[in-house]
Amino acid sequence: MSEQRTELEKLGEFGLIEHLTQNFKNENKHTVYGIGDDAAVLSLSDKEVQLVSTDMLIEGVHFNLMYMPLKHLGYKAVATNISDICAMNGVAEQITVSIAVSNRFPVEALEELYDGIHTACKFYKVDLIGGDTSSSLSGLTISITVIGRANKDEVTYRSGAKEHDLLVVSGDLGAAYVGLQVLEREKEVYNANPNIQPDLDGHDYIIERQLKPEARVDVVRFLKELDVTPSSMIDISDGLASEVLHICKSSKVGCHIYDEKLPIDGQTSMTAIDFSLDPNTCAMNGGEDYELLFTISQSDYDKIKGNPHMTVIGHITNEKDGQYYIDKNGAAIELLAQGWDTMK
Ligand code: ADP
Ligand code: MG
Repeated sequence: MSEQRTELEKLGEFGLIEHLTQNFKNENKHTVYGIGDDAAVLSLSDKEVQLVSTDMLIEGVHFNLMYMPLKHLGYKAVATNISDICAMNGVAEQITVSIAVSNRFPVEALEELYDGIHTACKFYKVDLIGGDTSSSLSGLTISITVIGRANKDEVTYRSGAKEHDLLVVSGDLGAAYVGLQVLEREKEVYNANPNIQPDLDGHDYIIERQLKPEARVDVVRFLKELDVTPSSMIDISDGLASEVLHICKSSKVGCHIYDEKLPIDGQTSMTAIDFSLDPNTCAMNGGEDYELLFTISQSDYDKIKGNPHMTVIGHITNEKDGQYYIDKNGAAIELLAQGWDTMK
């Protein structure tokens, strides 16, 4: 190591990954695609590919056990990994689970965690096939690797969006972030006075979106049934703005996203306003929605038109036209890459 010291903030999460991995070249002919998408793609047969993705969750960074029950945490850890396989238009089949735990946790706590993992395995029909267990000096860390499968000609990369394609999002956005605001507020109230019961009334949907997100395996299935193969796809873990920029960068294209088209649930909007937050900002930058963002050719529009699970939010433009958010007054605001502080 040289004497030089560069702060992590200078590179940011994605800059750091690029910097650390730039000298690696794939040597194996079965490695179809390595770093840079939601999952790696490995050749399996003439017709199918294997998909592999890993995610790590750290106590205090990604979850807070004060309001995240361990059972939910186990479920969420599996669902969010499966979401990365959905983003490749594939089906998850196996997971490995590795945990590092401090002696703060009794066996019963880990049973709760594994109860959630088990529930998710049953729901998503994936097999737990291994993992690793270690002690930790403080807190809990969970790392999950998911393995999936897709048809070779249906794999969706971040890089396939073309000018004039439509930008589509599944479900609704911003709910998980606003749900987190409610949980944080109730945590503060509890800290100030543990005798006060948390007031979560009227927030059931947004809290569920934060504590028990689902991978959109149904949307992958709907797309197949509708005979639509997206030209590109990504899952929304960090917020719509950040994910659309990933698609634009990988596909070398620009985009227009329309403010008035963003799908936002009524409970999300109302609660956001209670917190003096702009619902659209929550949808653009909130994160943890685990919806799918994809592009389709205009010729496929009729197949998804009116579908309650899919909303067209904009379109793809030429790279030199840039990436823009069009507000209610028609003003174009440049989409900006997110900084280190949103690293998840
Ligand atoms: P996602 O948000 O879909 O989980 P990430 O943003 O975490 O994806 O990662 C982007 C890409 O970088 C993925 O291909 C991932 O496998 C890869 N990656 C992330 N961290 C590392 C690392 N430390 N070393 C090598 N590759 C990494
Ligand atoms: Mg992803």
